Amino acid sequence: MRDLLGGKGANLAEMANLGLPVPPGFTITTEVCTYFYKNGKSYPPELEADVNAALEATGAIAGHVFGDPVNPLLVSVRSGARASMPGMMDTVLNLGLNDVTVEALAQSSGNARFAYDSYRRFIQMYSNVVLNIDHHEFETILDSFKDRKDATLDTDLDAADWKEVIADYKAKVAEMLAEPFPQDPKAQLWGAIGAVFGSWMNPRAETYRRLNGIPASWGTAVNVQAMVFGNMGETSATGVAFTRDPSTGENLLYGEFLINAQGEDVVAGIRTPQNITEAARIAARSEKPSMEAALPEAFAEFRRTTALLEKHYRDMQDIEFTVENGKLWMLQTRSGKRTSKASLRIAVEMANEGLITREEAIARIDPAALDQLLHPTIDPKAERKIVATGLPASPGAASGEIVFSSEDAETAKAAGKAVILVRIETSPDDIHGMNVAEGILTTRGGMTSHAAVVARGMGKPCVSGAGTIRIDYKTEKMTAAGVEFSKGDIITIDGAAGQVLQGEIAMQKPELSGEFQALMGWADAIRRMAVRANAETPQDARIARQFGAEGIGLCRTEHMFFEGDRIIAVREMILADDEAGRRKALAKLLPMQRSDFAELFEIMSGLPVTIRLLDPPLHEFLPQSDEEIAEVAASMGVSADALKRRAAELHEFNPMLGFRGCRLAIAFPEIAEMQARAIFEGAIAAGKQTGRVVTPEIMVPLVIAKAEFDLVRATIDQMAQTVAKETGETIPYHVGTMIELPRACLRAAEIAETAEFFSFGTNDLTQTGLGISRDDAASFLGRYTAKGILPADPFVTIDQDGVGELVEIAAERGRKTRPDIKLGICGEHGGDPHSIAFCEKIGLSYVSCSPFRVPIARLAAAQAALAKKGD
Ligand code: PEP
Ligand code: MG
Repeated sequence: MRDLLGGKGANLAEMANLGLPVPPGFTITTEVCTYFYKNGKSYPPELEADVNAALEATGAIAGHVFGDPVNPLLVSVRSGARASMPGMMDTVLNLGLNDVTVEALAQSSGNARFAYDSYRRFIQMYSNVVLNIDHHEFETILDSFKDRKDATLDTDLDAADWKEVIADYKAKVAEMLAEPFPQDPKAQLWGAIGAVFGSWMNPRAETYRRLNGIPASWGTAVNVQAMVFGNMGETSATGVAFTRDPSTGENLLYGEFLINAQGEDVVAGIRTPQNITEAARIAARSEKPSMEAALPEAFAEFRRTTALLEKHYRDMQDIEFTVENGKLWMLQTRSGKRTSKASLRIAVEMANEGLITREEAIARIDPAALDQLLHPTIDPKAERKIVATGLPASPGAASGEIVFSSEDAETAKAAGKAVILVRIETSPDDIHGMNVAEGILTTRGGMTSHAAVVARGMGKPCVSGAGTIRIDYKTEKMTAAGVEFSKGDIITIDGAAGQVLQGEIAMQKPELSGEFQALMGWADAIRRMAVRANAETPQDARIARQFGAEGIGLCRTEHMFFEGDRIIAVREMILADDEAGRRKALAKLLPMQRSDFAELFEIMSGLPVTIRLLDPPLHEFLPQSDEEIAEVAASMGVSADALKRRAAELHEFNPMLGFRGCRLAIAFPEIAEMQARAIFEGAIAAGKQTGRVVTPEIMVPLVIAKAEFDLVRATIDQMAQTVAKETGETIPYHVGTMIELPRACLRAAEIAETAEFFSFGTNDLTQTGLGISRDDAASFLGRYTAKGILPADPFVTIDQDGVGELVEIAAERGRKTRPDIKLGICGEHGGDPHSIAFCEKIGLSYVSCSPFRVPIARLAAAQAALAKKGD
């Protein structure tokens, strides 16, 4: 009942149903949250009575009464949405304590120090999350109190001390709010409930939802639960654990706990947590006893429980627990956040263990997260100037300029810089900075600190708790190992080793693990669509094959001319005054093209290769600087002035809608002629080399009409005959077209009469379908997505309602004419999982994307096939 109870509430109920030791409590549903926002932040009329009844029932099970001065029930109040949401109010503990009930707690526990410590924690927490008073107000009070008392640790303070601190705390609240800290437990409870619902719409939560695609309509639930205490003494403890290692995925119980502590102590990272198992303690060379050694009975029950939970949920669990006077209590379980590496290993191992099916393993991996596995690590041969070490909180490595605030991270990123966000610790306020940073470094906090958990989820490298680094936010400097670094200086972090390194360091491409190969193999067995790559250089083609591409779906021939002298020859061709001048330039390009194509065909060794005729948007290719003009002029033997004039003549206002695509081949057939010759001759050469017949697929770009396509096709067919005659070889080939303009979609039926295949160019189709320039969209598109006018950037995820319908129309009309027409997609959307799902739905034969996205596409195609099967 996750939708209704939220993740936390549903899992608590589920654990209770399994007979596990869960403190009694109840959940106010997400429907109340929805009601709250629909009705001017008010509650349904029956809520108060329901809460009272539930409180009574909870108290009856726990053996306490809420608000009772002698035997008070104390509760925790926690938010809990359908999906875990770090941006929201999280927890208030010890609610129900006041000047009277604290005495009762002191009596019943026989531990006054504990009772008053609990009360001051409650005041601090409640004031922070409900009354919006900053933590540091209280920390300052506590620090100066300790100074006065010559105490260093909280544990040095006794009940009388805490009473004094509490008086100061309450005075602070009264001073800041002009009213006293609430003493009435019911008022406290409703304050906390209101704060949870209110936090659903706070800016942090909104940012988090936007980044994670969580709809505002879901709402959050509120969990009210009887308190159990991990801070009652040496046989009490609290901790967090994962049933498998969330960094590597290794199948071992992994976690941290603190004796005589409450939950926030573990998260805050002020005290160094202890290991849960002996094995982990030994591996970490820790002197502090493990839970296994310190609390053997609770540990044994805990281990049984974690195994049971993993089996029950069939997934790695992230668990919070408390031990109160030796008795284990389960406070939370949920599917644990994990690195991509861990997620892959866990899914594959669970499938191999028979806990889940291969299909489930496939469905569980976020294809976009595979990206993280393909990210660089530090070259092992590179020299490392280590200036600090911290915890290896999230793997991967990154270099960048130091920034000390999330705002600076965003500014620097907008200026095109790579940054490492360096903070003493991070909070949900830093999400936007973490989101743009290449990596995160903190000087405080453990493996379960905010920075560590969030960075892992984002797949960014993170080193946390690098305690030897001193940060001064005011002067924007940090010192590490005696070296002073200023904002803007470059550092590298190695999130797998927990190292902070000076300067930029050579990186290495990752090796793909056995689990990766296994999962890819399973995905390949399930998917229907083929996956090809957009590649034009031999290197890209090789990478594409390594990543499992089954051919090239788009070879942009204009991209083969970016380098060195080649661009000069292309410019000569573009700027030539007449056919003779063009042919001269084309003669220079022919041998380059022929050998390029031959190499591509060889690398792809019999796999399909789609080569697109030249499609150069002029602004990308015209010479700009005087130097560039002089270079081309010299090569053409004309004056720089003459060339400048010619370039000015060719200037276009809308080059993306200008003289590009097949318009070039229509005006200057000799260009298509040269390219066709290079393709055919290259194919023959590669066929001889590899012994495999090459059947090139030649693609005409930016077509709007059949007549246009036919003219270009005639040039190609003619050249095929010429080359066949010259060489005595027969050359199999196909000629098809890009479908990337709305008119082509509508005229697809007749275009398919002569075009043998369609490849959807959804970049241009998005540009022209929405009338949004590919090059100028950035200045306003963000507002469109922020305001929800468009659900996502249409250049990233296909606009299904508009562009998608155009694609569907073209596919349907094309198939009507030519039932076996091959349909593919080669716009950027070919590597986007949501768009791939759409391609599966409408039955395309293949998707084509950049080489690094090929694994993502293979997995996404498998998931799409599974989803379709399930429909
Ligand atoms: C497209 O328009 O989708 C496409 C693949 O071509 P290009 O990006 O080269 O215009
Ligand atoms: Mg295009």
